[in-house]
Amino acid sequence: MRNKLIAANWKMYKTPDEARDFFRDFLPLVKDHDRDEIVVCPNYLAIDVAVHAAKGSNVAIGAQNLFWEKEGAYTGEICTSMLVAVGVTHVIIGHSERRQYFGETDDTVNLKLKSALAAGLIPIVCVGEVLEEREAGLTDDVLRRQCLRAFNKVSAKKAASLVVAYEPVWAIGTGKTATPQMAADAHAIIRAEAAESFGQEFADKLRILYGGSVKPENAKSLMSEAEIDGALVGGASLDPKSFAAIVKY
Ligand code: PEP
Repeated sequence: MRNKLIAANWKMYKTPDEARDFFRDFLPLVKDHDRDEIVVCPNYLAIDVAVHAAKGSNVAIGAQNLFWEKEGAYTGEICTSMLVAVGVTHVIIGHSERRQYFGETDDTVNLKLKSALAAGLIPIVCVGEVLEEREAGLTDDVLRRQCLRAFNKVSAKKAASLVVAYEPVWAIGTGKTATPQMAADAHAIIRAEAAESFGQEFADKLRILYGGSVKPENAKSLMSEAEIDGALVGGASLDPKSFAAIVKY
C-alpha cells in the first residue's frame, strides 16, 4: 500500500502575507486529515512564512527548485543547505515550466536529483510529454528517456525517498486533464523504468503523482486509480478551500 502524497505547486504566486493568509485558512480545513501526506511548495520568499505557519501541523513545506552546487558564485540560485536550514523537506525538480523557460534538461534534472538526495530532501521529479509527442505516439519513449536520464548513476538505496510526478505538459494549466486510464498507463511506464533502474521492489514502492489541471471536481476519479499515488496541483492549490477539497477528495 503506497501512502498518497498531495502537493501544491504555487509557482510564482503569493507574497509572504498572502502565504500567511493561505495557511490561516487552510490548516483548520485539513487538521484532522491523516490519510495522505500534504506538501505545499511556495516561492522562495514565502517559504519562511510557510514553514512557521505550518510548524506542528500535518503539512510539510517544499521548494520549487534548487541548484546542485554546494555554494559559490551562482547569482540568483539557492542550494540544498539553504533549503534545509529554513525547514524545507521536499523539492520539486524538473518541472516542465523550468524545462520550457529556463533551459532545464534531463541532465540538469539528474544533477539536481543527486543533490537533493544527498541533502536528505524528498525530491519530486517531474516528467511528461508535450502534445506533439503524445500525438506522434512518442509518450512511452519520452517518459522512458526522461526517467532513465534523471536516474542516471543514482542507487536504489540513495533514491529511497524519490517521488515522481507524471505531468503531461498539455494538461498543465490548460483545464485539460488526462483521463485516469491515460495517467495510469503513463504511470505504468514510469514504474517499469524505475524497475529497470532500481529494481522491482523499489518500483513497487515508488510513489508516482499525477499533475495537470487537478481540481476538486476530478480529484476523486483520478485518485481512485490504483496506479496514481497522489497529485501535484498548480492553479487549484492557490485557494485554501479548493486545495483542501482536493486533499480530502
Ligand atoms: C503544476 O504546476 O505542476 C500543475 C500541475 O499545474 P495545474 O494544476 O495548474 O495544471
